Amino acid sequence: MQHDKKGNIFIISAASGTGKTTLVSRLLHNHADLRVSVSHTTRAPREGEQNGVHYHFVSKEAFETLIGQNAFLEHADVFGNYYGTSFQGVESLINQGLDVILEIDVQGAEQVRRALPQACSIFILPPSFEILAGRLKGRATDSEKVINTRLAKARHEIEQAAHFDYIVVNDDLAQAEADLLHIIRASRLKKTAQQGFLANLLENS
Ligand code: 5GP
Repeated sequence: MQHDKKGNIFIISAASGTGKTTLVSRLLHNHADLRVSVSHTTRAPREGEQNGVHYHFVSKEAFETLIGQNAFLEHADVFGNYYGTSFQGVESLINQGLDVILEIDVQGAEQVRRALPQACSIFILPPSFEILAGRLKGRATDSEKVINTRLAKARHEIEQAAHFDYIVVNDDLAQAEADLLHIIRASRLKKTAQQGFLANLLENS
């Protein structure tokens, strides 16, 4: 169904190990009017991950074909694998009036900010670099080499926080979720997000 009012786009990025995925899952679970865009990736599924739910898992060849067809709003190489957000996935959600979260890395965030300046960008910070390092080392799924690569990259990613509209520190999960929700609510109330409604009101007055 086509809605009069399109949904808003929220970019959420963080250094790996900041708890971004947990935060976004909580938001989605508690707020039915929010959706997350399901990305395409060439990385192998982790245990418990389902195709079409957590990611669209595709081959490198299939991903490159999609790049050639301009299917992606943004795409990037993250830790040696391709990740991308398809136009189609995002459009179908915002056309239903749903707000969409893009849970993407800093390279993808930069591309979306350029393509869609009206998108609201949020960076999640860890309380400290030491806490982030501890969280990354505690992840059983990744090898030592992967953890070290992620730690080095985390420093670089945190430096990118300055380019985002909002910064949320994930110290207390409930507080960080509440902060994200306040940002989402404030964005929905922005004049630019309500221009259609405002015009209708004036037309009928
Ligand atoms: P993971 O492999 O742990 O699920 O994700 C690795 C990184 O890729 C995370 O920072 C995640 O946010 C990012 N990522 C996931 N989907 C996309 C996407 O569609 N585009 C970009 N640029 N990054 C993504």
